[in-house]
Amino acid sequence: MSAGRLYATEAIVLRSQVLGEGDRLVTLLSPTEGKIRAAARGARRGRSSLAALTQPFVHGRYSFYRGRDLDSVRQGEIIEAHLGLQKDLAAMAVATFLAELLDYTSAARQPADALFDLMVVALRELERPGAEPRDHQKLLLAMELQLCEALGFRPRLDVCMRCGRAGSGGGGPAESSSLWLLSPAEGGLLCRQCAAGSGGVWLGAPERQALRHLLEAPLSRARLLELSPGSLAALILAVRMYTDFYVNHKLRSLPFLVSTLGLPEPLLAREGTGRERAGGVDGTRARNGPDGDEQDEQRRSPGAGLPERLGNVDRS
Ligand SMILES: [Zn+2]
Repeated sequence: MSAGRLYATEAIVLRSQVLGEGDRLVTLLSPTEGKIRAAARGARRGRSSLAALTQPFVHGRYSFYRGRDLDSVRQGEIIEAHLGLQKDLAAMAVATFLAELLDYTSAARQPADALFDLMVVALRELERPGAEPRDHQKLLLAMELQLCEALGFRPRLDVCMRCGRAGSGGGGPAESSSLWLLSPAEGGLLCRQCAAGSGGVWLGAPERQALRHLLEAPLSRARLLELSPGSLAALILAVRMYTDFYVNHKLRSLPFLVSTLGLPEPLLAREGTGRERAGGVDGTRARNGPDGDEQDEQRRSPGAGLPERLGNVDRS
């Protein structure tokens, strides 16, 4: 093999599969090379140095041989093994889901520094001693939002996407006391006057402020955000719908994530429905927006009030 076919990069293992007898097929994310799929020869044999290097979520420095169809892992050293994830099922469920999202949204030979940096921080946060499922849920929210931003689909939160209205207080939708719809198809918020017939989730002022915080603050600060269980559940649904619209792919790990974290069931009904339905023009299932400008303070349990929050989506 010529030296020109050898390359080295930092990377995180997104997925590790069995390949033939004793080998592994690994999918990694590198900041400079993007997605790498490589065979790790002998990685399933206990004494191989590749055995530990090719475990899911290992962050390491690797060298590869570039192959015609498939690269192969030559050697490497571990930077962070993230073995702590194995002790926390909820953390593992989030890590697996995020890895699948990154696997799908990254491409070979396309630098992915932003996505890589997000995953480095996300794995550390998931492994943080004392982290609770609620912390994981907030991290998941921030990660999905910041992934959308990195992919060029940042939701716009300052004005109504149709009429440009900035909210009654003049401070933009974040301060307006009424409910606004987070509309995936519009790429941001819609005021009540403009939202009729649109798909999305209705969000109150605290939730819209939380959205902004989750988009703009470092991932490591997501867990510090104060959110009621009802707001957290609504945001998880809103953000999942939003991401699903732009990352239109059936994610295999979603059912495990929903059951492990106790997330709202409508998440599964929406799985992989993507652009066709979220942006549909069928108004027959349209729901009227909530009345009045009062904030809905009565929602205090996870998932409470979610059906009323859904805009024009098919939840059959
Ligand atoms: Zn409007």
